[in-house]
Amino acid sequence: MMAAGTPDLTADTTPDLVTEMFGRLTSSMAALTNRILGADRSVEAVLLLNERMIDIADLAMAEMGKVTPSPRPIACQTGCSHCCRLPEPLTDVPTVIGLSYGLMASLDIDHYRRVHARLANAPRPGCPLLEADRCILHAARPLVCRAFNAYDIGNCARGLFIDGARGTGIELGDLWPMGICAALQDGLAQGLKALGLDAHQVRLAPALHRIVQQRDAVSRWLAGEPVFADLISQQGE
Ligand code: SF4
Ligand code: SF4
Repeated sequence: MMAAGTPDLTADTTPDLVTEMFGRLTSSMAALTNRILGADRSVEAVLLLNERMIDIADLAMAEMGKVTPSPRPIACQTGCSHCCRLPEPLTDVPTVIGLSYGLMASLDIDHYRRVHARLANAPRPGCPLLEADRCILHAARPLVCRAFNAYDIGNCARGLFIDGARGTGIELGDLWPMGICAALQDGLAQGLKALGLDAHQVRLAPALHRIVQQRDAVSRWLAGEPVFADLISQQGE
């Protein structure tokens, strides 16, 4: 899936306003990260930070959708999962920690073991959290998954995203959600760095697997160790 990076949305909107809006999102997210993890360097604080980040992302996308509606209907619908069959998403470590605890909290033991068997077999095409064309942790899915959208399911089904990711012309939908999520990711990274925490975006499956395999991985990351820094790309392992 796409990596973080604020897309150019200035074509049809006042550039200064766009820059200011994204800047505010970024600085607010950085300040929120600093406030929550600066006061309490714990798993509970990470989960709270994730909740707040998701709330802000969903609210900002909903409000932006009212002010600047998508120029074409968005084709995404429940059960459509071609985008989840791309190479697994890159995401931030707090989100990986949240997903890890989400798996423990929401799955029975047999289901949990099946998911972790898939994690152990990474790298693989597609996301290990996809089952029967559904995301098993949809409410806690990464920002990049919340933002990704398309105008044409057919293009997704034909794999144009995959070709596009290789540089032959990507077919995307509305860019505003992606800009909002990229701005929030930038702010999160700034906040984490200011606290001396590793702010790399990491590959979802091996990062989740590492948390299962290394019981102290989360506490070491919270102490400032770059526990996941080798998982930043397909070539990272
Ligand atoms: S981005 Fe494409 S594959 Fe993913 S939900 Fe939307 S239409 Fe379906
Ligand atoms: S985390 Fe969920 S929404 Fe994101 S790629 Fe995986 S299955 Fe799809």
